[in-house]
Amino acid sequence: MRRRAVPRLRDVGEHAWLARLTRRLAAMPASPSVLVGPGDDAAAVRAPRGTVLLTTDALVEGVHFRAGWLTPRALGARAFLVNASDVAAMGGTPAYALLALEAPPATPIAVLDGIALGVAAAAGGAGARLVGGNLARAPRLALTVTLVGTAAGRVVTRTGARPGDLLFVTGVLGATGLAVRRLRAGGHGRLPAPPLRLAAGRALARVAHAMLDVSDGLVQDLGHLCRASGVGARVDLARVPVAPACRRAVGAAAARFAATAGEDYELLCAVPPARASAVARLGCRVTCIGEAVAGPPHVALHEGGRPVQVTRGGWDHFR
Ligand SMILES: [Mg+2]
Repeated sequence: MRRRAVPRLRDVGEHAWLARLTRRLAAMPASPSVLVGPGDDAAAVRAPRGTVLLTTDALVEGVHFRAGWLTPRALGARAFLVNASDVAAMGGTPAYALLALEAPPATPIAVLDGIALGVAAAAGGAGARLVGGNLARAPRLALTVTLVGTAAGRVVTRTGARPGDLLFVTGVLGATGLAVRRLRAGGHGRLPAPPLRLAAGRALARVAHAMLDVSDGLVQDLGHLCRASGVGARVDLARVPVAPACRRAVGAAAARFAATAGEDYELLCAVPPARASAVARLGCRVTCIGEAVAGPPHVALHEGGRPVQVTRGGWDHFR
């Protein structure tokens, strides 16, 4: 029995695929703020009111994911959500997304469709719109989403933490870092989707002195916040919210693992104690893990009062 050949990018070609994708995107519910959507030389949108946020992030095959780790739809959604996480960390709201795709000629059309529609669906779920992009031939699959967001209120950065601020983190940590390590080792499993912390980000922006999202690892990202703010930090590992799957798999070392694993896309912020009661009403889990302290920008970990050393605080692409 002959199997039907899978249509690939080289069979269909750039222009025919883009034309078909453009028609599919145009069939999605219209947005009054998008004047010209995908398919023209550039998108045209109504200028957002307030402060405009801009961010971009890439997912590269062989670096951020491997074939088979995620469905194409989940991969597209992930590319959008990691950008939405950066917008959330500023206290903003996503508005317009661009998708730059790189793909080898042998890439199945179904994979490209899944990725593009995954980005469009995740954008729609966050109140945003995929308005354009690009497709280029490359030796491996890669997707770069550029996201335009808005901030109606105050934009919160990494720079304002003060000694005495309480450090809070949303959600739980370690589940995705664990899944990545299992998949890298050839195991099976599912890569959890990054959380969408937009409402939490906007609420925290009203009370936090400083905020960022945990992408590389809690300890490493907290180090970025400390350096930007000129403060130190003390973190009690026993208070780090560890994902149940991570606790089951890693056991006694779970908190240490979760604090350095990365890929969590939760929000980490420094809040003055007088405003800490506002943090309890976020609509998602939020945990106080320690405090900012005066001194050099060092993250001191302890567990039950005893100091704990970790060899690496998180992920670095080039080390
Ligand atoms: Mg970030």
